[in-house]
Amino acid sequence: MGWVIRKREHGNIVFIDLRTVKEPWNPLQIVIKKEKIREETWRNLKKITRESSLLVEGELVENPRAPRGIELYARNIDITHIAETPYPLGKKSHPPEVLMQWRHLAIRSNRYTKIWVIRDHLLRLAREYFMVNNWYEVSPPIIVSTAVEGGATLFEIKYFDNSKAYLSQSAQLYLEVMVFSLGKVWSLTPSFRAEKSRTRRHLAEYWHLEAEAAWYRFKDNLRVQEELISYIIQGLLKNPVTRHIIEEFRGNIEHLEEIKPPFKRISYDEAIDILQQHNVDIRWGDDIGADEEKVLSEEIGQPFFLTHFPSHLKPFYVKLDPKGPETCLAADLLAPEGYGEIIGGSEREDNIDILVDRIRKEGFDPEAYSWYLDLRRYGSVPHSGFGLGVERLIWWILKLDHIRDTIPFPRLARVKKFI
Ligand code: ATP
Ligand code: MN
Repeated sequence: MGWVIRKREHGNIVFIDLRTVKEPWNPLQIVIKKEKIREETWRNLKKITRESSLLVEGELVENPRAPRGIELYARNIDITHIAETPYPLGKKSHPPEVLMQWRHLAIRSNRYTKIWVIRDHLLRLAREYFMVNNWYEVSPPIIVSTAVEGGATLFEIKYFDNSKAYLSQSAQLYLEVMVFSLGKVWSLTPSFRAEKSRTRRHLAEYWHLEAEAAWYRFKDNLRVQEELISYIIQGLLKNPVTRHIIEEFRGNIEHLEEIKPPFKRISYDEAIDILQQHNVDIRWGDDIGADEEKVLSEEIGQPFFLTHFPSHLKPFYVKLDPKGPETCLAADLLAPEGYGEIIGGSEREDNIDILVDRIRKEGFDPEAYSWYLDLRRYGSVPHSGFGLGVERLIWWILKLDHIRDTIPFPRLARVKKFI
């Protein structure tokens, strides 16, 4: 069962490359010899166009020169549908705007099919990691009443008659709630960010893999992250299918093969030093943005944690460093090769007075967070967690140019028409 990618006619023999349901990422060569099939079927072959759908019956034969090492010698061909011509994406390459406009067809290309296979396996491995290590998967809401990451990127929605709600930017606060029921929890949900800047790493809707655990301190949190990332990457390299795809996209996989815990830890202070040595105009207290991350990420050459940011750069829920409140117990995990942040995480503030104070300083009303503050009133525990951007991870593993290629239906500020 499959779709025609290409048809080549050579007199009494016709070759068709088929994108099959069984191994969609790996086209199967169909060999059709005139003398082997019914006359009517042979005549119908003429009509077969690109993207026509077929049921082919025949014999699988080994052929080391065929793309798959095997090919199918057809005995019978049943045409399910003859695709209209010309196929809108007929030519070999297209600019990104055209691929976006025809996204519903572009997603079938061999390149995209391979990316979806990686995406699928990556998510399976992530889920497997949490299952094996006894974390509970939970289902937080998407329609929420409070901001987590600051108002600038909030999507507001009308909630029934007169009330306002938002699309979730992060499940974190809800995972913090669930910790009190299940101890170690994780979730995979869409997160929404009205990102106005055009970058190659921001989507307006992305898949967020978040985890939160009771009694986990700052260091425990980093351990989970480096284990999870290593588990996913090693799993992808162990499977011959995903290994092959990654090899094809990256050129080589040596770099990924070396990835195992522990990852390097670099403090914000050290990062500022490194950046200044690279003549970046930055001072203590400044944010480390995408450009600075790129410098660090290329310099370090492996995934690493950037730790102990100045407190004013991180949200109210991040625990202040007991060694001095100028810095906080937050860490970002940065991918190498210039890719930058793929995870943001921290130990959470468990001191209710500090929390109220910081909520006020961010310009929010503590009243709106009373439910969150209750978590510090009834059985408060130290706890930590993190959020991984699924698309950021795929983007880096496959060394893609733009994050829009990691998800079938990307939402981007500048593309206002979409399916
Ligand atoms: P950035 O500084 O890159 O905008 P952030 O600090 O806003 O990231 P967090 O709020 O910590 O990110 O979100 C956790 C993770 O979610 C990030 O590490 C990243 O992997 C991912 N992420 C955040 N925003 C986006 C986005 N707009 N598109 C895709 N992934 C995102
Ligand atoms: Mn952001």
